[in-house]
Amino acid sequence: MGSSIDIRLEMLTGPRAAGGVLPSNGKAFFIETFGCQMNVHDSEKVAGVMLARGYQQVDQPHDADVVFFNTCSIREKAAQKVFSRLGLFRPGESPTKIIGVLGCVAQQEGEEIFERAPWVSLVCGSASYRKLPDLLAQVEVGNRRVMGLDLDVDETFETELTRRDNPFRAYLTIIEGCDKACTYCVVPFTRGPERSRTSASILQEVRQLVDFGYSEIQLLGQTVNSYRDPSPRGMSFAELLVAVAQVPGIRRVRFTTSHPRDFHPEIVQAIEAVPEICNHVHLPVQSGSTRVLAAMQRTYTREQYLEKIALIRAARRPISITSDIIVGFPGETDAEFEETLSLLDVAQYDGGFSFKFSLPIYTPARQMEDSVSEEEKGRRLAVLQEKQRSIQLARNEALVGQTFEVLVDGRSSRVEQWAGRTSCNRVLNFTSPSASSSGAGASLLGQYVQVKVSRAGPNSLVGERVT
Ligand code: SF4
Repeated sequence: MGSSIDIRLEMLTGPRAAGGVLPSNGKAFFIETFGCQMNVHDSEKVAGVMLARGYQQVDQPHDADVVFFNTCSIREKAAQKVFSRLGLFRPGESPTKIIGVLGCVAQQEGEEIFERAPWVSLVCGSASYRKLPDLLAQVEVGNRRVMGLDLDVDETFETELTRRDNPFRAYLTIIEGCDKACTYCVVPFTRGPERSRTSASILQEVRQLVDFGYSEIQLLGQTVNSYRDPSPRGMSFAELLVAVAQVPGIRRVRFTTSHPRDFHPEIVQAIEAVPEICNHVHLPVQSGSTRVLAAMQRTYTREQYLEKIALIRAARRPISITSDIIVGFPGETDAEFEETLSLLDVAQYDGGFSFKFSLPIYTPARQMEDSVSEEEKGRRLAVLQEKQRSIQLARNEALVGQTFEVLVDGRSSRVEQWAGRTSCNRVLNFTSPSASSSGAGASLLGQYVQVKVSRAGPNSLVGERVT
């Protein structure tokens, strides 16, 4: 897989779209993605592989010869959703289509998918996307049960065929897999152990992305800050952040998701020192109770986690913090849930995601008794979300009157409004006296502009562009 193909694929879809048409094989594919940013980026890689193979990408499954579902199984409901989507493609509905299941559910369920949905002919885990063309070729000659489920622990995606969807922010995987063993999580089973890319290959891809017109890069990994440069340069994660930020043309570097155990002061120092590194850290806590954290095998206590929060809050540059929280983990008592609520008071998160625990298949938590009733989980989630909502509102209201630089990535012609993201990852909707969002004036999409905040809600800010 040569880099010349990478470049041509990006030229087709990147911000500086230009010429470069790959030979078509007259067939089309559709891909639907479930789950996190890692999965979204995996779909971009699959799309790159398919375009290089001569397929065209289409927006509707009924226009496609090949339909892929790139799946997530972090929560059981996500897997159920995939099977219900598969139900729409029974043979009577679409006899000639090739239906493929990719990603975590594929890796986890394997052959079982053929039993539950016999019209599926391809099952491929996330470590086998490079083999997709070969696997597809087997299906095309009539093989009805083709599987690619090898967990290739040497695969680090050193060269990538990628068709990026987002014209403003480029995702870039720097570490695959996970060596932690959280009892509720399937990732170590479905994606395998941690494998970091070399810093040289990452920096080369960043330079390429700048050439394609990207100025904002989001470094991805299930535990992104566990990155270890396997080359003799031996860069730490913090050193890599700085090196990426120093590539000429880069204006913003984001990273997600950070694991608290590997979150070191050098990362905060890098954010303080280098303005191109965005002042936002996503640092999932999952629970405020040390006993529950131990049952989850998160490898830190409440106190150790809060030390990391204190470190970030003490930075000279304000850094926003977001988190993930699970309520109703097996055995979580009322008092332990209260500990999570009290942690919110201390952490003062700027945003985040919260979920009811659901028994994931193939994880150690499957053996635990799901002791908290659905009703109680629902109550705890509502209480937690209401509390977090009021914290977010107060934190956002404190920003009224301040001016932020945003990268404009959306617009609403209906209300003559633009939307962008601050470095601290807040959504800021704004009006601009000199540019019409209806398209009559100059487009601001892809530009960095200064916006003064005039109003705040719990999930976004409102303001007006200033010059
Ligand atoms: S750190 Fe835990 S939750 Fe995150 S991917 Fe690894 S095992 Fe899953």
